[in-house]
Amino acid sequence: MKNKQQNILIIGAGLCGTLLALRLGQRGYKVSVYEKRPDLRTTEMASGRSINLAFSDRGNKAMKLVGLEEQVKGLCVPMHGRLIHDKNGDTVQSNYSGRKEEHINSISRNDLNALLLNEAEKHAHVNFYFNRTCKSVNFEQTTALFHDEGSQKDFIEDADVIIAADGVGSSLRRSYFLDRDFLFSFSQDYLTHGYKELSILPNENGDYLAKKNALHIWPRKDFMLIALPNLDGSFTVTLFLSYDGGLYNFNNLTTEEKVVEFFKTEFPDALLIMPNLAAEFFKNPTSPLGTIKCSPWHYKGNTLLIGDAAHAIVPFYGQGMNAAFEDVVVLDTILDMNLGSWEATFKAYQKKRKIDTDAIADLAMDNFQEMKEHVIDPIFQQKRKLELLLEKTFPAHYHSKYAMVTFTEDLDYHVAMLRGRAQDRAVLTLLSNGTIKLNPKPTKEDLQKFLEQIKHDTNQ
Ligand code: FAD
Repeated sequence: MKNKQQNILIIGAGLCGTLLALRLGQRGYKVSVYEKRPDLRTTEMASGRSINLAFSDRGNKAMKLVGLEEQVKGLCVPMHGRLIHDKNGDTVQSNYSGRKEEHINSISRNDLNALLLNEAEKHAHVNFYFNRTCKSVNFEQTTALFHDEGSQKDFIEDADVIIAADGVGSSLRRSYFLDRDFLFSFSQDYLTHGYKELSILPNENGDYLAKKNALHIWPRKDFMLIALPNLDGSFTVTLFLSYDGGLYNFNNLTTEEKVVEFFKTEFPDALLIMPNLAAEFFKNPTSPLGTIKCSPWHYKGNTLLIGDAAHAIVPFYGQGMNAAFEDVVVLDTILDMNLGSWEATFKAYQKKRKIDTDAIADLAMDNFQEMKEHVIDPIFQQKRKLELLLEKTFPAHYHSKYAMVTFTEDLDYHVAMLRGRAQDRAVLTLLSNGTIKLNPKPTKEDLQKFLEQIKHDTNQ
């Protein structure tokens, strides 16, 4: 593996594959990336995948690694908190942190991907091939079978190492799964809910029609609507709804009248600024959501799964891309160890990483409940209020679970999960049994006592 003239083949030029190509290129490796879609810099992409994403500190650490932090900042719209909309159209903001500097960002998937592609291509030994779909991987031989969408011909590529960053439907993962001699464990859990993307366009002056620097959320227990701002004054709106449960669902929203009636009842203030709702609803696809876990991610030193191909998660913590970027950072630190072979490198990588990607998968499922239900539950609202007070008053000593997951570069996800869950249990118990009261407004001394009690109950 010290021989950098080896040919590394990456399948997928999405966010993770392109970042990986850039980083390996910076390290001097010869890299070829094959992507099934056309080049997104020169082609209008079909809708269907999230148009914008919440980008936070773990993702930013990867941008620092490749020297793109400042350029990425220019693509970001900061979001300081959730703006929660009730059925009357009244809103209340719940900030993400009591520390002023901590916020998440809305970023365009395409703009970020394009930036990474441009940077990766600056390395002469990194090459991208678009419109090439991988059909299968022979992981014994380290070859991949591709279909050229232009010539409509199949061809085989030989490589020294193949890394699959081809997302939730990974071709390498499928090849692992279909091989009867390879002991490959795999689970796929679909949600009963799917999602559909819609939009709120800017007004004729290009201004935002809703508050710009927030993640808007309309939580309705069994379903929810969210909206993230884009740089051009628009918002990308996502409806998360059951396929067939409840009064309204994707299967029974079959006419424009019904869709409008649903929004009038549940999201009336959103409907007012969504004149294109009915048309978009039927034009845009409904897509499923799920969690994929599998193991092993690698076969000897020949092949490796990375990003969503190894661990797809539901989007409710805003961490899928951030985790995929963190994969590249972790792999990079393992490469720094010079373990002598790709096999040793891949083994060490999975050993370090899998426990964390399993953790963020579970946390993301927990957050589904929190976003659609708990944000409107009085006890959870009190918990959030207390946490913000503690973070503001003792910024170095209190970090909510959300902050441990989102506003940190170095705390492993599984540690954030264990500490965060224990802390959540302690806080909820102390609020429920009246040990912690927020009325009348607690003094600094009260908060100090609360903090000590929480630390004590959490064994910290
Ligand atoms: P992908 O982005 O899926 O890229 C895979 C690439 O491989 C694509 O370019 C694809 O065209 C290509 N490809 C696929 N199959 C083949 C093949 N056979 N041959 C060649 N190429 C192939 N994450 C966040 O961090 N924050 C968020 O707010 C957030 N919101 C989300 C909202 C929704 C609705 C969804 C669905 C996901 C969200 N995510 C979010 C998750 C995020 O989109 C993924 O985690 C991230 O895109 C993973 O990157 P990836 O490169 O591993 O996979």
